[in-house]
This record gives sequence, C-alpha cells and structure tokens, in this order.
Amino acid sequence: MKHFWVFVSITSLFFTNSFAQKPDKFTSAELFHEVQKLNFLGTALYVAAHPDDENTSLISYLSNHEKARTVYLSMTRGDGGQNLIGSELAELLGVLRTQELLAARHMDGGEQRFTRAIDFGFSKHPNETLKIWDKEKVLADVVWAIRNIKPDVIINRFNHRTPGSTHGHHTSSAILSMEAFDLTNNPEVYPEQLEWTTPWQPKRIFYNTSWWQYGSQEAFEKVDKSGMVRLDVGTYYPELGLSNNEIAALARSQHLCQGFGRLTDRGSSNEYIELLKGDMPKENDVFDGINTTWSRVQGGKAVGDILYKVEENFDFQNPSKHIPELVKAYQLLQKVEDEHWKTLKSEELKKIILASAGLYLEASSGSSSATPGSKAIVNIEAINRTAPSVTLKEIDIVGVDVKLTPNTVLGDNQRENFELSFTVPQDISFTSPYWLNEPGTLGTYTVNDQSLIGKPETPSAFKAVFTLVIDGVEIPFEKSVVHRYSKPDKGELYEPFAILPEVTSKIDEKVLIFANADTKEVQVKIRAGKNDVSGSVELNHPSGWLVSPSSIPFAIAQKGEEISVAFNITPPNAESEGKIEPKITLGNKVYGKELVEINYDHIPKQSVLLPSEAKVVRMNIKKSGEHIAYIMGAGDMVPESLEQIGYQVHIVDPNDIQNGDLDKYDAVVVGIRAYNVVDALKFKQPVLFDYVEKGGTMIVQYNTAGRWASQFKNIAPYDVTLSRDRVTDEKAEIEILAPNNSLVNFPNTITKKDFDGWVQERGLYFPSKWSGEFTPILSMKDEGETEKQGSLIVAPYGEGHYIYTGLSFFRELPVGVSGAYKLFANMLSVGKDEVKKDSNVKG
Ligand SMILES: [Zn+2]
Repeated sequence: MKHFWVFVSITSLFFTNSFAQKPDKFTSAELFHEVQKLNFLGTALYVAAHPDDENTSLISYLSNHEKARTVYLSMTRGDGGQNLIGSELAELLGVLRTQELLAARHMDGGEQRFTRAIDFGFSKHPNETLKIWDKEKVLADVVWAIRNIKPDVIINRFNHRTPGSTHGHHTSSAILSMEAFDLTNNPEVYPEQLEWTTPWQPKRIFYNTSWWQYGSQEAFEKVDKSGMVRLDVGTYYPELGLSNNEIAALARSQHLCQGFGRLTDRGSSNEYIELLKGDMPKENDVFDGINTTWSRVQGGKAVGDILYKVEENFDFQNPSKHIPELVKAYQLLQKVEDEHWKTLKSEELKKIILASAGLYLEASSGSSSATPGSKAIVNIEAINRTAPSVTLKEIDIVGVDVKLTPNTVLGDNQRENFELSFTVPQDISFTSPYWLNEPGTLGTYTVNDQSLIGKPETPSAFKAVFTLVIDGVEIPFEKSVVHRYSKPDKGELYEPFAILPEVTSKIDEKVLIFANADTKEVQVKIRAGKNDVSGSVELNHPSGWLVSPSSIPFAIAQKGEEISVAFNITPPNAESEGKIEPKITLGNKVYGKELVEINYDHIPKQSVLLPSEAKVVRMNIKKSGEHIAYIMGAGDMVPESLEQIGYQVHIVDPNDIQNGDLDKYDAVVVGIRAYNVVDALKFKQPVLFDYVEKGGTMIVQYNTAGRWASQFKNIAPYDVTLSRDRVTDEKAEIEILAPNNSLVNFPNTITKKDFDGWVQERGLYFPSKWSGEFTPILSMKDEGETEKQGSLIVAPYGEGHYIYTGLSFFRELPVGVSGAYKLFANMLSVGKDEVKKDSNVKG
C-alpha cells in the first residue's frame, strides 16, 4: 500500500498580530470566506529562492480572490545575509526566517514549502549556484514538491532566461522550476518518490514579470503583452474588511529580521505574468479551462451539491445551522478515493465544522518542555458553544499508550476539563529543526527521512486526537500539544511543547584565539532539562593541547537552571587549530548538544539543538601597537576579534571626536558600511585625515557603492571610486602584486597560504579606480571575470597611512581564519617598521 503523503496546513486569519501558537478563531464573515475556499478546487505554486523574494500581493490575490490553494516554494530558508533584529546568523537565521515566512503565509492565506538548498551567500551565476547546491538533489526536491502539492499553475518569481542579471539563486530557482515542469509526470524520473506520491502534470507555467525587467515603467508600457496575463491585485475583500494589498503588506511586514516593515498600498494595481509553457488562458484567468469545481474529483459532485448550497445560503448570524449539511458532506467526502483531495478538503471541512459549532478543543501543558523518560501532563479542554448534539467520545495522544474515553455529551457552553499523564518514550526525537540534525554540505542540508523533505518545520512532538460524534457522525480532530501560560505584561501566550535533552552545554565564545602559548580559562555553561541532574563534564580537545582539570563533577537541582564551570586550556607552541567539545556524562549516557532558543514576539519560540563546541586556534601572530579606536558602522564583530589577539579596542562615537582626540591611538578602524549608515562621518573626515597626516593609521572597511557616492566623494584623502566589484569564490586564487610592501611583510610574512580556509567570499564593493598615491596589494578574480586589484589599497598621507579594504574581514575574523588575522595585524602595524626598514632594507 502506498503511503500517501499530502502537504496539509491550516492557515488563515488576518487579524492576529502575533499568531505564534495561538488557536485560530473565526468570525462568521471569515468563516464564509473559508467556505468559499473549500468550494474552489485549484492550486497555484509560486517559486523563488529566498524568504522575501515572494510577491505577497500575488500570493494573497490567488489565495483570497481566486480562493486557490496557494503555496510558496522557497528554494532556501535564507540562511545567508544579515539580521536586523538579533544575533542569529547562518543556520539560526534560517530557522528565524522560516518562521517569518510561516507568519507571512498566516497573513496572506498561503502555505510554505522548501527544498534542502542552503542560502550559502551571494552567487553571481546559476552555474555556480547549481554546482554548490548539487543540482540533482534540489531538482529532485522541486519535483517532489510539485508531485505532492499538485499545482494546476506554477508562477516563477524570476526569469530563467537571464543568467547573470540577478543573484544566481534567483535564476536557479526559475531554471529548476522550468525543468521540473517537464519531469514531474514521468514515473521514470525519481521513481523512489512514487512510494509516497504520484506523478503530476501542471497545466501552465508563468514568469511573474515586472517593469524592472524592461528598465522603466515607460518601456514596459510599450511591450507587447499578448503573451501575458494581467491581474488587478488591488481588489477589496468586504468580508475581510481589507484590500488585497493591505493583506500583502501585513504579510510582507513579517520579514522583520530583514527590515521589511512596510507601509500599505491601496487601490487598483496590476501584476503581469508571462506564459512560458502550456496554453494561453482567456479573460485574465490563470485557472481558465481547468475544472476547479467539486466535479473534478470522482465522487465529488455529491459533496459539492451540499457545500455549494451552504455557500449560497450561508447564515452569518448562526453558522451552526449548517452543521448537519457540513457533517453530511464530510461523510460523503470520506468515500472519495482520491487521497489528495480527500485529505486536503477533509482538513478544511473539519476546521469549518469546528468553527461553525463554536467548538473549542485544546491540549496544553503547563510546562514548556519534557525529557525522554519523564512524566508529562497534558490538560484537555473541550467546549461546545452552539451546536446541538456533540459527544466527546475519546481523546488519544498519538505515539503513546494513553487514551481517555469520556463518552460524554458536551452540554451547551459547559466546559469539560481532563488531565492526561504519561511517560515520554525514551526513543522520542528531540524538538529541533529536522534539517539541522545531520551535518550538511556547503550547498544542501542532509535530510534522511523523505517524508520530512520540504516541510517547513518539524512536526510537533505530541498530538492529541479528539474523537467527536457530531450529528451522529464520528469525526477525529487533531491538535498539537502546546505550552500555554501567561505573562503579566503580555497576557495569554502559547508556545510549542518541546522535548529536550536532560542536560545541554554551551561555550559562549565560539572562537578562541591563542596568539601566544599562555593558558586561557574557558567557561562551560551547563543547563538542566529536568530536576536533580548530577554528573561530570569533560572537554574533548585536539591533540597537543592541554586541558585541566580533566573532568569536573556538578549537580543542578532545578530544571532550567544553568551553572558555569571553568577549564584551563594551554595551546601547543606550534600553530594548531581544532575544536573543543564539552561532553557531559550522566549515568551511562553522554550528552554533547547546545540548546539555542530563538524567541521573538512575531514567531513561536524555537528550540534548536546544535553540537556544543568552540573552535580553538593557536597562531604565531606578531603585532605592533596596542590601542585601536573603532568607529562602528552597520555592525560587525571585528572589535571582539582584535581583542582576542591582544589589542585594546576603544569604540568611539564619531559625533564626539575633535582634532587631536585620536592622536593617542595606534590606528583608527572604520567598521563595515559606516559611510552608508553613520551621517556624522561626512563631517568628520577632516578630523580623521588630520590624525593620519600627523602619523596615524586609518583603515576603512567595505562600504556599498550606492547613491551616496556621488554626493560624498572624500572617503579617502585621495581619489577613490568604489564599484560593485566583488569576488564571491572564497577559494579564488590570490596574486600578491606588491610582494615588498610592508602590508605583506611586517610584522607577519603573508603568503598565498594565508588565504586558505576563508569563508563565504573574498570580499565585496572593491574600488575600481584610485589615484597614483595608492598601492594595490592583491589581485584576484571570480571564474570567467577580469582580475580585480582593489581589494586592499594603501597610500601614505602626511606622516601616516590610509588603507581601504573590501576584503571580508568581518566574516573571516569571527570564525578564526588565521591568515585574515595576520593580514589585519599587518594593516594595524603599517608604518611602525620604519626603524626596522632602515637597518634591514626590504625594498
Ligand atoms: Zn532573493
């Protein structure tokens, strides 16, 4: 027998600001909207690459105007890039953005899916993207998504015909979607998927074009649009009290970590979708010629006969009047053989039955988490607030042997409460994003369970099934077990009920640099997942390193409490790097995970379990100078990194600096994008240049070449033109153009080897032109491009030195890349080798 696996999620409701785990509650107008959606049997799939790529106006229009099931397939979870609201980066940022997408879909009525592809950073060309992603794997996931979702129409956000014109991930999403369109119906392609699903042929595929494809609005107006469908997405929904673009703005504003809080647009506005494959629809209707009524399903006509009448005669004052018809339709739907529609529409119908009856069912725990083997208590609430004749037959917790059989009639507006207690199975999976359970590659996550691939999140640990008998018909309703609690300043709150290890550990500093052979103390935090935890902790370490003591015993009385223990670490004399990993022994079990909690008001709390570890690096690094002034830009971890190699870093506010204030510093470093974001710098350049003239060193890290460049030209004391040149291949070959320059000789000798182990990219926004006073130090290029020489340029100015660098030190230093540290130490030491130079001429 085939294990049919259908994507089902229940989303709707536009009005809750923070949906978190809060139960949906419908007004009768919203309920009517749901009935209209129930009676539309068509599906649209929107395809792009990242969280925020999706056109929420179009998704909302398809979902709320067309009433279609609308799914956004994002290739990645947006792991790369910046975070404007917190410290989560990389895989943790992917977890946060996944939840922001779910919050957006909750607003616009769509659903959310993914592939295993990772957002590994900027990519210039789809050829590079598809190599790193492992094209076959991600194409399989796109085919898998289409076979499961079974869309009638697919709409690509990006153009598959213009590689190189946008992020390589964008073009790749469209290329994969186009290829998958021709493969999904062929049973010989990825046949292993057919154990779970069936082949499927979508009818049409479109490209969601826009004027920016043509350069300007005026140019777009002149384009022949006979091959395009025009959709007015400004439509107003009276039953929701919102226009489509107001809903779209609410959805888009969920992408808070990307700073997408938006103003609302109202009024008529057009979207154009260009037909790529399939036949051209008439009347600007993407579903033209597709049967989207109940008669498309064998046995569905009888269901439709009932449900269309409910829609036609919908009673806004008393929706519970429709319960007998809805229940009858449910009964008929169970006889339908088409598993896909039966599963989808049964879930929608059950949601409508619950809401029409004013039935409220909840399974909650007063505790936020439990550990394997511990006792869990689940509180059950069931209440019937309108409909006659509802019996609560039984309540079953899926996966554990516990069942209640109250067999009780739910009296009119009489609340029933029960308590269920059970032992959490020892072999249960922990609550953590499933795609982070195994180590992945640079381009894709490893997911061994095919049934999980594409799901937005890990299914909840426990589900309660309420079996009700309504109007004589037995219907099961499934509810995730949640943690319900209240806070005086926030009211009632819901969060996922998590299964966590008995003990977790954490080293706060993820990279420890040893610039000499001195011993350093390292704190290991230990957190109890249950009461009365006692055991011992050891620190795995690379050979040649010494750790004392070898083991530390500990005891923690309270669940959730955290203690700290200290180890002394002594590095070897020679250069060496590796990992230190806390291993905690409780009885005969060893625990090695760190628990990271991601907690914001606009998403449900996320528990993420990662390997507990820190990187240790012993580097023989020489430096000159001691005190560094740092002017923060858009935010980077460079100051903390420089402190690790023994500098004293002083953060200075550019508003406060006057001539002479900086003279006490050995160097002034300007943080990333400072000239883009710190207005005061525009007026402080003379102060900074005065400092350089008197013998100081000024180092400016990358700024974006944007509009400001034309208004503000004096980023350096001589002419420099910033450009969009970047080298994204972190392994790109380096040529040292000025082998005799102090930057590659003093106090550390820099060779090509120092460019090994860099991450994500070489650098970005390099200058493309500079005046003759500057010396370019390095040359590098991405495949198929010309050599870029502007990554690191230096010029003497007065008695001092000015350096501009687009190299990605802000990425390399925090992850402990030793060559990047040595090069940065040389930049800070420039000019301090004059004495040495006189006696030992290096040219
Ligand atoms: Zn994007």
